[in-house]
Amino acid sequence: MKKLFFKIINFFYPITCSVCGDDLYFLSQTKICDKCANSFPLIKDLVCQKCGLPLYDGGEHCYVCKKHPKEYSFDKMRSVYLYKDSLRSLILKFKYSNRSFLAKDFSLSMYKAMELYNFYDDVDFIIPVPLNIIRKIKRGYNQAELLANEISLKTNIFVLTNVLFRKKITKPQFKLSKSERVANIKDSFFVKNNNIIRSKTILLIDDIATTLVTVSACSLALKISGAKTVYVLTLARD
Ligand SMILES: [Zn+2]
Ligand SMILES: [Zn+2]
Repeated sequence: MKKLFFKIINFFYPITCSVCGDDLYFLSQTKICDKCANSFPLIKDLVCQKCGLPLYDGGEHCYVCKKHPKEYSFDKMRSVYLYKDSLRSLILKFKYSNRSFLAKDFSLSMYKAMELYNFYDDVDFIIPVPLNIIRKIKRGYNQAELLANEISLKTNIFVLTNVLFRKKITKPQFKLSKSERVANIKDSFFVKNNNIIRSKTILLIDDIATTLVTVSACSLALKISGAKTVYVLTLARD
């Protein structure tokens, strides 16, 4: 009887899983069913103490962090999932197909990751990786900012969007070589109102970390401007 009742309500107010399309309970707070959420490739157990890369053979640091301790400008970074399979297509929808409501589900898994690592307890402010203004207008939202706002609701840590900015990219990225592209990204962030972050611990939020060049460049800009510590948390890592 109860099942039939839900079926009728779902017929008029369909709420379905964003991954598999199965019906969800009509009062469901989540847009991803448990089966799909549990199938996402969670990063757990052994990771590099600095950058959070999974280390399947154990050890303290990954090759890069061991050989080049100054390669990344952040202090520590963790990611919740590996960027693959059904999660990958879902993040692409989140970024490009107006599924901004997924920020609620995604941020919950990021919040759970924060509870696993006690260094996140020291965070004073949250800062999302910025988009340049043209891209933000085209897309209508910055997905990193949506995640940051949701995490702020759960942690009561204030989000700063008036500190870190991205310059308008003048040269098209595809015309550049790989090293020119890296240099271009390194040079593309700047800080305003640096008095707010002086001697503070910052949590930098992004959706996907691919090369870590972006999050490292943001961390460097924040540190040059006086931030004491920068921790990074991303939803996924490529
Ligand atoms: Zn599902
Ligand atoms: Zn590492």
